[in-house]
Amino acid sequence: MLKINIIACLQDNYSYVIHDTETDIVGVVDPSEFNPIDNFIKKKFNKIDFILNTHHHFDHTGGNLELKKKYNSKIIGSAEDEKRIPGIDIKLLNNDDFKFGNVDFSIILVPGHTSGHVCFYSKKEKIIFTGDTLFSLGCGRVFEGTYLQMLDSLSRIKKLPPDTNIYCGHEYTKNNLDFCRKFDPDNNFLKDKKIWVSSKLNKKEPTIPTTIKEELNTNIFFRCDVFAIKKSLGMENSPEVEIFKKLRDLKDSF
Ligand code: ZN
Ligand code: FE
Repeated sequence: MLKINIIACLQDNYSYVIHDTETDIVGVVDPSEFNPIDNFIKKKFNKIDFILNTHHHFDHTGGNLELKKKYNSKIIGSAEDEKRIPGIDIKLLNNDDFKFGNVDFSIILVPGHTSGHVCFYSKKEKIIFTGDTLFSLGCGRVFEGTYLQMLDSLSRIKKLPPDTNIYCGHEYTKNNLDFCRKFDPDNNFLKDKKIWVSSKLNKKEPTIPTTIKEELNTNIFFRCDVFAIKKSLGMENSPEVEIFKKLRDLKDSF
């Protein structure tokens, strides 16, 4: 069984320390920086077998080299990003499997935010690490791909089992919620979510994980094919990708 510890890093990043309790294998997903991870690790496990990177951005790989040096860890990431992920050892392709102790992760290549962005998905554990591709109530900016690629990447995540738990790279939920409410004003799921998000944040607790089911009901970037949203944009007859592009552009300046 996989245990997941959420470690807040930098301004609003989340890194995840993962532990397979059956085999005692320890990993860190997207170590933004050395210190918060090291503080946690040295108290609890005193080792890191694997560092898993969803993509090359500094706020997801900033701790790579120092942690690797101290704990002699193996760094795993997308083969597409082999030149950009510091210290990479194991280079993975779309649909590759990666054995983390007794937990099998499959690699889902999700270009859009960056061209080599990957998600780590475990069917058995019902979890996915989505980095900066899918957030709670939002999605990442399109930096290196096309809007169509990003929409396609999101739609592949969307098809995972609804009870899959989503662990993403940032605490952006509050701002994302305000955006969703603006363009999906009659969505009752968002009203309930607002109460829940406020109570979490008031207690200084993460709003992570979320689930696929929850996102299907609330995340506007999962709902570009819903008529009410097309209507709120005045784009009733536009294809899904145009709706996605419009929303992503609006969100960039929200
Ligand atoms: Zn990023
Ligand atoms: Fe990021």
